Amino acid sequence: MASGANFSAKAWAGHFTIACLVLLLVLGACLLGIMTRPMGHLAALWPANALLLGLLVRYPRLASPAGWLGAVAGYVLADSMTGGSALQTLLLTLANLAGVVVGYLLLRRLGDDQRRLRTPYSVLYLALVIVAASSAAGLVGAIAEPLLFGGSAISGWSFWFVTELVNFMAILPALLTLPEWPKRPVERRRAAQWGRNELLKALPAVSLLLSGCAALVIGGPGAIVFPVPALLWCALSYSLFSTALLTLGYSGWILVSISYGSLPLAMLDMNSRPMLLSLRLGVSMVAFAPLTVASVMVTRNALLERMQFMASHDQLSGLLNRWAFYESATQLLAKYQRNGRPTALLMLDIDHFKRVNDTYGHVAGDIALKSFARVASDCVRGDDALARLGGEEFAVLLPGCSQEQAQIIAERIRASFSGTEIELDDGRSISCSVSIGLIVVEQSSHTLERMLQAADEALYCAKRLGRNRVENGWILESLPAVTGEA
Ligand code: GH3
Ligand code: MG
Ligand code: MG
Repeated sequence: MASGANFSAKAWAGHFTIACLVLLLVLGACLLGIMTRPMGHLAALWPANALLLGLLVRYPRLASPAGWLGAVAGYVLADSMTGGSALQTLLLTLANLAGVVVGYLLLRRLGDDQRRLRTPYSVLYLALVIVAASSAAGLVGAIAEPLLFGGSAISGWSFWFVTELVNFMAILPALLTLPEWPKRPVERRRAAQWGRNELLKALPAVSLLLSGCAALVIGGPGAIVFPVPALLWCALSYSLFSTALLTLGYSGWILVSISYGSLPLAMLDMNSRPMLLSLRLGVSMVAFAPLTVASVMVTRNALLERMQFMASHDQLSGLLNRWAFYESATQLLAKYQRNGRPTALLMLDIDHFKRVNDTYGHVAGDIALKSFARVASDCVRGDDALARLGGEEFAVLLPGCSQEQAQIIAERIRASFSGTEIELDDGRSISCSVSIGLIVVEQSSHTLERMLQAADEALYCAKRLGRNRVENGWILESLPAVTGEA
């Protein structure tokens, strides 16, 4: 009984917290919108509806009955603070909620990737949802306008529609692409690491700032599109979320500075509604371009990453393939030779592997290869280059490893693999062994090919001496007594 009462008290506290949280967010956003309302004009930015919709979609826990009630209370409270009549409060709250409800129902129907703008067409889908949501707000506006302000239904619809459109288009993308809260603390970068690369990375954002300045100085009707090339450059260079934030910054800045008259747009009469609506529509259209580019870039980058992985990794074992091994081993070797540090190379070959295939079948052989890849990966360090060169032959480059350290790692791989029970699909289990040839070069400039050849010779020596063992090889020229290399 007591625990039931506790539970319901806890549940009520949860509902109450959600309601208060949504109420405060809506109220705060409404007040912010009211603050962007210069004397005699309508609000330049109305972030409340887009903020509410974005949060409800991103955090569905907030979209409970308590959350919706909190939202209604927030709108009502904000309007009553500005001294509206009961009818005005009712109609304005309905207009605010209509767009949010329609937007919420439609956005929930999209797939997760589409909702997070990670597919090429997702900005188009979002735009369609925004048009539908803004139309719904427009319908309430068409009723509210004649009743509250004495205007026509058509002008009420178009005003509410365009205002919702521009706010949703500016604010929603940033909320929908907001990154997940990091589970692990993000490593802090040291300020000293700021170098030429970081400065180059800042260039698109700087160009956006400069084009904003140019818009202020030059002015005229074309000024609102001055920042478009810079926004596109940002979309090509930064993450989707950063682009959405910069686009929001651009839209907010244009809307606010137009309302306050700080952007000198020729022929624009600030009291003319059609002119204002045309401008707001223009700002929404501009926001469309960088968002589309950034969302296409997400797909492109994911595809490139996948292709790069496929081109450099072996499909069966997931290890580096021969080509990628040569690339990364050559670079590692050169780096460690420059620093005068030793480098070790292991060549590994599974023993009597043909017998495994012949006795248990090819599928069992594949399972054994994957099992070896896992064992070897567990025994090497993050910087080591481990690869499947082909068939049942593998190689590891161990940069910075002395003879003793390399011997320990090789022995660990050999012992772990021979002690591993490999479970087959049919419930049987087998065990295999591996022979390893090891070569270490100290400070000399031997090529990777020469090292591979020497390690291969050591491997064949291990095979001849009975398999399941590690043999050390030598590069004869590196022995001072033989070559006279000083
Ligand atoms: P040794 O101890 O001397 O190395 O003998 P071995 O049988 O391991 O060597 P051999 O070169 O005679 O045989 C290698 C076998 O590996 C032959 C080939 O069919 C098999 N093999 C190569 N690639 C794959 C693969 O991707 N999957 C499977 N299951 N077998 C493979
Ligand atoms: Mg073999
Ligand atoms: Mg072989």
